[in-house]
Amino acid sequence: MEKTYFFDTLRRIGSTCREQLSWLVGMLAPGFAAIPGKLELTILLSNVMLWLGAGMDAADGRMRLKRKWYAPWRRVLGLDWNVDRSRKTIEAIKEVHRQLTEATDGRFFVPPTWSLFKSLLTLHPLGGCTMGTSRENGVVDHLGHVFGYRNLIVADGAILPTSTGRNPSHTIAALAERIAAHIT
Ligand SMILES: Cc1cc2nc3c(=O)[nH]c(=O)nc-3n(C[C@H](O)[C@H](O)[C@H](O)COP(=O)(O)OP(=O)(O)OC[C@H]3O[C@@H](n4cnc5c(N)ncnc54)[C@H](O)[C@@H]3O)c2cc1C
Repeated sequence: MEKTYFFDTLRRIGSTCREQLSWLVGMLAPGFAAIPGKLELTILLSNVMLWLGAGMDAADGRMRLKRKWYAPWRRVLGLDWNVDRSRKTIEAIKEVHRQLTEATDGRFFVPPTWSLFKSLLTLHPLGGCTMGTSRENGVVDHLGHVFGYRNLIVADGAILPTSTGRNPSHTIAALAERIAAHIT
């Protein structure tokens, strides 16, 4: 009896979430809202193909610890990133995606996070403690030694001086291995 109640409650929660989500999708992508009925979200999602693009942005974002207005006692890592110098790259990625979508009979849709809000996020944050030839243009040298602090070594994505364009983890690992090999 209890089990039935549990699954029944789960089903009801699921159905409410589906309705809310399809309402949201309808608001954000009015073209999709035309599909009526209970199956709408299932149909929507089973026909959606998420395409990701990668490119070299201007690498001029700044990460810093911020406080959220609704929780000022907590500090969170925030990103200040003016899109102006990266706009060309993003528009180029968008254009390639548009062409690919048309070639595959799809309906092109850019998320409102970009089309309306010009808001960006990154899964590949790099830099902050960048490699340079001197303390005038960097924090560490090519072997990860912090300028002026010989025995302090940084060996991770923070030392990359700019965007890799591609997924960065192999580059980071190669640099870390090289740095480790030079530690005496
Ligand atoms: C969702 C997602 C998907 C990604 N997919 C890809 C992909 O497909 N291909 C790719 O190349 N890259 C991918 N990346 C990026 C990649 O994971 C990172 O660029 C890479 O892991 C960065 O390496 P890192 O050594 O600089 O830092 P990290 O891998 O973040 O390592 C930092 C380590 O330090 C530890 N640490 C933090 N604070 C402390 C502390 N105070 N004391 C001790 N230890 C501490 C952390 O636990 C962590 O283990 C992805 C990233 C995300 C978030």
